[in-house]
Amino acid sequence: MAKPWLFLFLREIYSILISLRISLRMSLISKLPHIGTTIFTVMSKMATDAEAINLSQGFPGFGADPILLDLVAKYTKGGFNQYSPMSGIPALRSILAEKTKLTQGYLPDQETEVTIVSGATEAIFCAVTAVVREGDEVIVLEPAYDSYEPAISLNKGVPIYVPLNSGNFSVDWEKVKDAISPKTRAIMVNSPHNPSGYVWTLSDVNQLAELIREKNIYVISDEVYEHITFDGKTHCSLGAHPELREKTFVCGSFGKSFHVTGWKIGYCLAPAALTSEFRKIHQYVTFSTVTPIQFALAEYLEVPDRYLSIPEFYQKKRDLFAKGLAETELEFIPSSGSFFQLASYGHLSKISDRELAEKMTKELRVACIPISVFYSDKKDDKIIRFCFAKEEAELEEALNRLKNLSSILS
Ligand code: PMP
Ligand code: GLN
Repeated sequence: MAKPWLFLFLREIYSILISLRISLRMSLISKLPHIGTTIFTVMSKMATDAEAINLSQGFPGFGADPILLDLVAKYTKGGFNQYSPMSGIPALRSILAEKTKLTQGYLPDQETEVTIVSGATEAIFCAVTAVVREGDEVIVLEPAYDSYEPAISLNKGVPIYVPLNSGNFSVDWEKVKDAISPKTRAIMVNSPHNPSGYVWTLSDVNQLAELIREKNIYVISDEVYEHITFDGKTHCSLGAHPELREKTFVCGSFGKSFHVTGWKIGYCLAPAALTSEFRKIHQYVTFSTVTPIQFALAEYLEVPDRYLSIPEFYQKKRDLFAKGLAETELEFIPSSGSFFQLASYGHLSKISDRELAEKMTKELRVACIPISVFYSDKKDDKIIRFCFAKEEAELEEALNRLKNLSSILS
């Protein structure tokens, strides 16, 4: 007969093995070990805690057009509250196609080439997932918006970083050419650019077309600031270029254009074959997008002036902010697009941009974004980003505080 101590010993070993198996099974190995909480969340929280003026995270500090808000009320109260078709309601796809014809000169097919999604972030993720396979290289021009790299990595792609020119952040086409290899599957494009505000010229568009001609390379074009351009510059969508249109996913955001970033609603325009693959992913990421807001936007977009007047609206803010910034010790080139303005401080101090952003938030009580976070290697060029999508009075108060910048640098 077995000894009781042996039985207890074996039982103990057995339970240790079981718990080890469970803990092994339960230890989740991160797919994104290098990713933490985004800088936008970090800086906005810091701004709230310090009661600072929040020019960090990019969101408008003013409300949407009451007409748009009334339309949302009309459709929610009118019972338009169930799932929409997977690709978006026909009325919104159709008016969006017409808007594209008016602003970019081509008419996407509303049935096969237009998809309504839950924000441009979703569009970017689905487009990357549609084309990138394990080991594929994806060219990312940096500084770059933070959602591109995780989308590429989750699909086991390899980001190949190409720096934009220092100064105005234009594209160095020689460097892009050098980065293309037989493994290149896609390139991420963003114009107007976050964080720099650089707006692609027609020559940029033509150079890209030439570089990827007859290559199996797709383009994911992040055009969320399509309606925010200044000084007479206009947005050249990659969809407007007949050759690029065949290989491009144009990703847009109604949140940016109509001051409703919290609604998380956007779109993807792409040729039928690409849209078909895109929708296979979209239908299992979100399936469909918030219905009453789609109806509201469809009706709102019937008046083109509602989007054609956006550049003028933001130009006033850009001008006011640039004029005030010129009275501070910061150096800058006025932004050409988006609602962001970069500014350099390297001639004033050697502290890191993250440290400066924190000091500015806590001591000057103006929050901004350090630009190093937009680089894969966290390169610190001593540049910070301000969001000027705020009421005039708020911008003026922030500019007043920025005049005292030297007081926190000593
Ligand atoms: N791309 C860029 C460059 C952005 O600045 C943003 C800002 N949020 C997005 C994509 C995401 O847009 P959305 O909120 O519609 O997902
Ligand atoms: N696009 C916004 C920015 O650049 C942030 C959006 C977000 O917080 N994810 O500030």
